[in-house]
This record gives sequence, structure tokens and C-alpha cells, in this order.
Amino acid sequence: MKQITLIPGDGIGPEITEAVKAIFEAANVPVTWDEENAGQTTFDAIGELIPSTLIASLKKNKVALKGPITTPVGKGFKSVNVQLRQMFELYSNVRPAKTTPGVNTRFENVNSVLFRENTEGLYSGLEIFDERLQIADSISRVTREGCVKIVRAAFEYATRHGCKRVTAVHKANILKHAGALFLSVFREIAKDYPNLQADDIIIDNMCMQLVVKPEQFDVIVTTNLFGDILSDLCAGLVGGLGVVAGANIGDEMAIFEAVHGSAPDIAGKGIANPTALLRSAIMMLHHIDLKDEANRIEAALEATLVNKEECTGDLGGKANTMQFAQNIIAKL
Ligand code: NAD
Repeated sequence: MKQITLIPGDGIGPEITEAVKAIFEAANVPVTWDEENAGQTTFDAIGELIPSTLIASLKKNKVALKGPITTPVGKGFKSVNVQLRQMFELYSNVRPAKTTPGVNTRFENVNSVLFRENTEGLYSGLEIFDERLQIADSISRVTREGCVKIVRAAFEYATRHGCKRVTAVHKANILKHAGALFLSVFREIAKDYPNLQADDIIIDNMCMQLVVKPEQFDVIVTTNLFGDILSDLCAGLVGGLGVVAGANIGDEMAIFEAVHGSAPDIAGKGIANPTALLRSAIMMLHHIDLKDEANRIEAALEATLVNKEECTGDLGGKANTMQFAQNIIAKL
């Protein structure tokens, strides 16, 4: 039995977590949950956003599944997600976007995986505000080591999964240092993977290409800010944040997460869609080498998604969260 740290999160987090737990139990997945929360709920209860017991659990288990977290609004509250990524050097944000039969979208045959550098770039936290002159600087720091790690992760993924093409997205024509360093590292590393097609594209053109012909892309790799925006754009191509998975992966640890928010408008109603968290959990099963279990649950999920009435309201169905989970369980 592999022990996994489970962070239910805030808002709809505990509701979708219960659904995923029920599906895992029904599928006899050999994992046990070490439940430790973070965010608004723990802050209200014990005055800590990231309790030390959660940190200890993460260090011990090295793999976690996380629901959405509300970071309290106001000065001094740093995003829990950003803190976890930086604390554990989770430098790869991995976001698959695949067209799913039954999920309505404008496009067909989209099947891409985006690798976003997760710890540096414009989100390095290097910000200066000159109160007197009213000038704000946000520094985009990109390191060779950081570029090597994310680019290598993308090429390794492409090799392991039989992908054909890796595309780097950048703005090296304008960002003469940060952009150029990322691009030159990409071109150097591409030489180690002669069987993969490697090319690059400027971010603005990429945005247009993605909304015109998204099926042309396979593995995409980019820096933090561009990746943040593109990953949600890619989610939109395949049905939105409610149906896509996400993972934050470092050399030592990986946290798999639903990338949507805590949805305060529907929290407590039991109607949230658990698909995003379930798909993140399926990615987690691949990561810990439980491939048969991952494939079985994925097949049951896909067989349910094609029957709209068996799904939650956001997908056009009538089921609540646990009914949707039961419909998936029935197909295991
Ligand atoms: P949100 O994603 O919570 O909600 C946007 C809309 O999508 C809402 O109408 C909501 O009902 C709907 N929605 C989201 N997830 C859904 C699901 N699984 N099933 C059905 N409908 C769903 O975004 P927001 O309102 O901007 O943010 C709310 C809170 O979430 C904020 O406190 C924000 O900081 C936090 N947040 C957390 C994460 C994270 O932990 N990864 C990500 C984004 C936002």
C-alpha cells in the first residue's frame, strides 16, 4: 500500500475529494490516504495556512493529491499553491489537454501536454515598488538550471509517451536575456533527442495558432507567465477547468491538483464536478506506476462522460457529485 498525502482544500474541495475517494475504494486502488488540510479552513481553525503536520506528511509521502485552496485576501497572505511549489521545488507544472467524447467544445482532436516552468520567471517574487517615484518593477529571473530542468522534463515525457513533437513557446525576440536563455537551452537539449521534432514559436503566434488549429500541438514547454496563461487557454479548448488535470512535479515530490478554484458559489451544495480532481488522481496513479488502476478508472470516467444525464450540471447533466461518482463506479 502506498501512502498519499490528501489535501481536501476549501469550498467544493472536500466534496470532490469524497467522490475521488469513493471511486478509488471501489476500484481497489492500493493506496491509503494521509489526510492533512491547508488554506482557509485550517487558517480559521488553527491560524496556519500550511500546518507543520502537512509539511511533515508531504516530506514523508512525497506524493500528494490536492483540492482547490482559498488563499485569504489581504496583505501578508502568500498563495498556498505558490508556497508549496517553491517550498518543495516543484518546477514542472504539467497540464494535459485532451478532447473527450461527450464534453462539448469548439474543437476536435486536441491532445497536448503543456510543461510550464513553475518557480521562476516573472513569478520569482523579485518585486520592488518605489513609493516616492510610483515605479513598480517585477523582475523575470530565468536561470540556466531552471530552463534545463523544465525543458528536459518535457523531452523526457515526450519520449516516454511516444509523442512526436516538442514546441518551445517564448518571446526571445523582445526578451533578449530571459527569453533568449530559455530558447538557447531548448535548442541545446533538443539535440539529445534526435527522434523528436523540436521547434519553437513566439507566444503571440502561439495564442493564435491554438485557437485556429490546436490539434497541431503535442508537447509544449514554456516559462512561468506564458505557461500560466496558455495552460488555461488549452483547458478552454477541451471543456474548461472543470475537466482538466494538473500536476506540480519536482525531483523529489509531486503534488497532483484540480486546477480550478474552490467555487464558493456552489460550495456545500454537493453539485460540483469531480472530473478535474479525478483526472489529476489518475495522473498520480501513472506517476506511482499503478497503470492498470489508472486505465481502468479513466475508461469508467470516459464511459460516463458520454452519457450527459449521468454527469453534473456544468456538463449538462442532472447528477450531483456523489451520483456522478456512483455512475463512474458502476462502469469500473
Ligand atoms: P473558481 O474556479 O472557484 O470558480 C469559477 C466558476 O467555475 C464558478 O462559477 C464555479 O462555480 C465554477 N466551478 C469551478 N470548479 C467547478 C467544479 N469542479 N464543478 C462545477 N463548477 C465549478 O474560480 P474563482 O471564483 O475565481 O476562485 C474562487 C477561489 O478559489 C478563490 O479564493 C481563489 O483564490 C481560489 N483558487 C484556487 C485555486 C487552486 O487552489 N488551485 C485555483 C484558482 C482559484
